[in-house]
Amino acid sequence: MKVYIETYGCQMNVNDTEVVFSILAGHGYQRTEDIQQADLIMANTCSVRDNAEQRIWGRIDQFMIQKKAREGVLIGILGCMAERLKDALLDTGKVDIVAGPDAYRSLPQLIDAAREGHPQMNVLLSREETYGDISPVRIDKNGVSAFISIMRGCNNVCSYCVVPYTRGAERSRDPHTIVREACEVFAAGYKEVTLLGQNVDSYKYEDTDFAKLLSMVAGINPQLRVRFSTSNPQDISDDVIYTMARYPNICKHIHLPVQSGSDRILQKMRRRYTREWYLQRVAFIRSVIPDCGLTTDVIAGFCSETLEDHAQTLSLMEEVGFDWAFMFAYSDRPGTLANRAMQDDVPAAEKNRRLNEIIELQNRKSLERYRAQIGRTLEVLVEGPSKRDPSQLCGRASNNMMCVFPASGRSKGTYTVVKVIDCTSATLICE
Ligand code: SAM
Ligand code: SF4
Repeated sequence: MKVYIETYGCQMNVNDTEVVFSILAGHGYQRTEDIQQADLIMANTCSVRDNAEQRIWGRIDQFMIQKKAREGVLIGILGCMAERLKDALLDTGKVDIVAGPDAYRSLPQLIDAAREGHPQMNVLLSREETYGDISPVRIDKNGVSAFISIMRGCNNVCSYCVVPYTRGAERSRDPHTIVREACEVFAAGYKEVTLLGQNVDSYKYEDTDFAKLLSMVAGINPQLRVRFSTSNPQDISDDVIYTMARYPNICKHIHLPVQSGSDRILQKMRRRYTREWYLQRVAFIRSVIPDCGLTTDVIAGFCSETLEDHAQTLSLMEEVGFDWAFMFAYSDRPGTLANRAMQDDVPAAEKNRRLNEIIELQNRKSLERYRAQIGRTLEVLVEGPSKRDPSQLCGRASNNMMCVFPASGRSKGTYTVVKVIDCTSATLICE
């Protein structure tokens, strides 16, 4: 049987798809990138915002065209949307298999039963499942940079967020399996690993915390770069920041989602920090690692957000000067605390207006941050040809900024030093 999987949402989902391919390969399934060849068509889905789900409903209708055209084609929905909607997906009569994020080991059995004509569902969440023993089948094509999940789920219950309900309680993976996986990818030629979790700073397995895990992975080989995501402002420890400073191969970049610059909104979001705390963390990071890249996530128009709250978000972004940000209009998600107890009362047009202001400010800040790199020399890991101009190569600097530079004797998967001569708000142009 040939399996085709489309992946939506975060990097964690990309990594989960790799785990699914590994489980299915163990049962004789073959991966295909051609939907028309597939006997099993699956989407690994995201529920974080409503528009992510709407897109997937559209894709299910497209999958139906394949199902109608060829005998025996099955459709499966994996991930957060499977977990959130459960039977509602089966009730459409379009979907044959529904499997939540902790149910992937049961996929071979679910598929076998579905082939007999009985739609199947497993959405049980687990307190233990980390897929720690499974070596994911890498689906990214560059062969330079790999993602490794170090934990699953989330215990934070931010009031806007559906993740704790779709991915269950937080659990950390045995560090030895993480180090083993990092060694395997390094032996396979990869030069960079990104350690993934919803809140990496709360990683804890017996006496190993995140700082210790970072040093274990960084200690594998100085030629293996280490990145991580996502850090939470209330949990990122001094120890983690000092560990980053100590190892040249731990990349100097922190993704530190702030969500809002207003204390009142942060409290309603159930984020466990204040604006002041956030700014102090940034100041501390910059005092220990002066060139640290900093990126963030921002939500515009959360419940009850006033123009004053919005202005606080803009002023925080102005003050910090992030290199880059993921910026979203608040999307009310069924089942979350905000959905149950608060009014989604900022009109859509106003949310978008505020979002556009946030984006505009961030574009200006990004350009400033990128311009400040002009004239500097940076060490870059070459990822491959640039998408815009295939005669050029591209790769990231330690601070996560994307660099584009002439090929001139440089090759993919090697480190090179480049000089920044120009930039856009998202790319450093180098020689
Ligand atoms: N665990 C990470 C954290 O705490 O920052 C991020 C996880 S979440 C999948 C990624 C981002 O989506 C969040 O940082 C937030 O900005 C955004 N997000 C989550 N729920 C949202 C919602 N209901 N509406 C809009 N954006 C949302
Ligand atoms: Fe969602 Fe908050 Fe957990 Fe991030 S930390 S996944 S935003 S609940």
